[in-house]
Amino acid sequence: MLFKDQVVLVTGSSRGIGRSIAVRFAKEGAHVIVNYRNSEREAQVITEIISTYGGNPMCIKADVSKEKDVKMMVDTIIEKYGHIDVLVNNAGIAIDREFANKHIKDFQETFDTNLIGVFLTSKYVSQYMLERQSGKIINISSTNGIDSTYPYSVDYDASKAGLINMTKNLAIEFAPYINVNAVAPGWVDTGMNEDLSKSYLDDEKNKILLKRFAEPEEIADVVLFLASNKARYIDGETIRVDGGLKLE
Ligand code: NDP
Repeated sequence: MLFKDQVVLVTGSSRGIGRSIAVRFAKEGAHVIVNYRNSEREAQVITEIISTYGGNPMCIKADVSKEKDVKMMVDTIIEKYGHIDVLVNNAGIAIDREFANKHIKDFQETFDTNLIGVFLTSKYVSQYMLERQSGKIINISSTNGIDSTYPYSVDYDASKAGLINMTKNLAIEFAPYINVNAVAPGWVDTGMNEDLSKSYLDDEKNKILLKRFAEPEEIADVVLFLASNKARYIDGETIRVDGGLKLE
């Protein structure tokens, strides 16, 4: 088992991609901390499921955009396990709206979770990783932060571009002890896209060489690779996982 007895915090793991990442780490022997903001029932169900894989998981409600919540979450994890091996900054939100109807509040909420949340978790978790001179941080960005940009997600796209930049700064700050990398998925089949129309989603699928959205597990596979010893010489990098989006 690749991550036997490693302590892995996956933010936003009650649903979607984060949930798949939590399951994959648990199957590889890790003690996984499931984090959520609202979806208590889903988070508890997934924690019960992963406890059957033999690890000792835990479920913590914490809003990553709130400093006191993040401090509480990290203190609780350290009290129970003594250290953290892997931090996956997966929690993210998108408030899709026509550009003319975008408000400052949309930008603020999006940046609070997608950027400030990553800053806070990385700041508090890295203290313990640096003490042990070992750790991995993986940030979930998006191809929207690179080149698949849309005016109705102008705030989200800027936050994901910012996250690619933050990944590089965190890699510099924590070198040579913590590898910090990002994954930039294209379209992934999760609840985040459930409000978009079928015809729009079909058009988007046609832009992808593989003609389908990713399954969350296909993003989780790359996250586990980056957290593993096989990726020990990768640092400050962003890996696209988009099925060939925009290559045609
Ligand atoms: P979902 O909407 O399915 O799930 C989001 C998760 O993040 C939930 O567990 C949610 O918790 C949690 N969350 C949201 N805000 C906070 C917060 N402030 N504090 C703690 N937890 C929070 O999203 P996806 O699984 O689709 O996306 C996961 C990541 O992947 C995001 O960063 C997203 O931007 C990125 N991504 C997604 C793509 C896609 O097509 N789906 C494409 C590219 C990137 P709760 O259930 O409690 O609300």
